[in-house]
Amino acid sequence: MHSKTRICKMPKCQKQTVNAKAWFCLEHQRAFNAWKEQGAAVATGAVALALAFMAKGKKGK
Ligand SMILES: [Zn+2]
Repeated sequence: MHSKTRICKMPKCQKQTVNAKAWFCLEHQRAFNAWKEQGAAVATGAVALALAFMAKGKKGK
């Protein structure tokens, strides 16, 4: 079960990613794409996501 599937990078989210190369589950992948498109327009969300990345990154990979 741990071979190819990954778990969503979002803290508290335990869903599997949409595919082996994705970082997020379907739900958060959509949110991440929207975040990328909007860029700095959603500064608050961006900062939250960045912090989430760092927090998760220290633990796992
Ligand atoms: Zn997720």
